[in-house]
Amino acid sequence: MTAYDLVVRDARLRHGSARPLSAEVRSIGIADGMIAEITDTPLDGDVVIDAGGGLVTRSFVDAHLHLDKVHTWERTGGRARDAYAGGAMGAAATAIELASQVKDDYDEAVIADRARGVLLDGLRNGVTHVRAFADTDTRAGLRGVRPLLALRDELRGLVHIEVVAFPQDGLLRDPGAIDVVDEALRLGADVVGGIPWIEDTDREAQAHIDHAFDLAQRHDRPVAMLTDDAGDADLRTTAMLATTAIDRGWQGRVAACHARAVGLYPRPRVGRLVRLARRAGMAFVTNPHTAPLALPVATLLDAGLPVALGQDDIADAYYPFGQHHLLEVALLAAHALDMTAPVDMERLLDMITVHPRTVLGLDARAVVTGVPADLVVLDGIDAREALTRHRPPTHVFRDGRPVAATVITSDITIPEPNPTAASGRRPD
Ligand SMILES: [Zn+2]
Repeated sequence: MTAYDLVVRDARLRHGSARPLSAEVRSIGIADGMIAEITDTPLDGDVVIDAGGGLVTRSFVDAHLHLDKVHTWERTGGRARDAYAGGAMGAAATAIELASQVKDDYDEAVIADRARGVLLDGLRNGVTHVRAFADTDTRAGLRGVRPLLALRDELRGLVHIEVVAFPQDGLLRDPGAIDVVDEALRLGADVVGGIPWIEDTDREAQAHIDHAFDLAQRHDRPVAMLTDDAGDADLRTTAMLATTAIDRGWQGRVAACHARAVGLYPRPRVGRLVRLARRAGMAFVTNPHTAPLALPVATLLDAGLPVALGQDDIADAYYPFGQHHLLEVALLAAHALDMTAPVDMERLLDMITVHPRTVLGLDARAVVTGVPADLVVLDGIDAREALTRHRPPTHVFRDGRPVAATVITSDITIPEPNPTAASGRRPD
């Protein structure tokens, strides 16, 4: 019998959203970091881990996290949150201006420490891949990007990190930001960011997108933008982004994040956007837990578009909570998006496992032979139990190696019922 590097036995597998709630118990053989065999017969391995009948899925991927700003809530006192979540016209742009103040005293060592803590917390919660946005503009300079690039190297093999050079304050509103993003890409940033909707006119929003694509094509990078992130149905930079990806031949390398205004579009306009997004190979990332109003997620999923859930914020100017915990994000999304039917629970798991892999351009298949063995063993036998408990996985594997485990101890002994004592009669 082949001895695998690692065997995960007594693992319950999903069959994806096509067949919700069906599952079966298998052994998974892993060699050279890849899933080599899935069988219902026992397997031999150098390391054998018992999943205890728990659900085993691909590990979690966070496709949208503002990692340079984590744990800055104390500094900003939530004023930006009030403007962002308040819903008034233009208030989200005001929030960005308020939050921007935190960058005046950006310290690279402090950013690195906070970000490292969040990434390791995330790893315990099963998050093995992160697309990390770093403000890259004339106010932050490269002080947000550099520590994240260093962490990408430091944590290689544990957490896969993509750094997005993100001009949070705009490209036209912040003259000079283009050069800072260009410099970040030279330093090795992985993705070109953008936020076209905060420019002052549609023409300037399109110019923002064009500048970003010029950089993306010069440096051969994918594009991830925050689009239409306010309660204004007239915003349409999500469609502009898709159209530009098609015009530039950048299909399959573009993601729209937030895009909350799409939730206010009349149905025909959503239909047009869906068709454009399909042609552009555009993926979406949503974070309905951080603010009211969200993408029409079910409509996009029904149309076959990939939609991922992102953590977005962790205790920063926009959002007071967050612990880099995508099962928690999925449970919050279940409520915010009214996704509590069995088929929805499967979709929520897809939104933190396979869809974000599409966003990052990774192998987005479920647990099948031939995929990288980035896996989690969940505390629960199915999607409903895993979401209900939303506890850290009992085991986390990266490239076929155990990288985190949560030990459940049961040192509380529940006394046996004692009918003798209850009746007040002393034993003979
Ligand atoms: Zn965001």
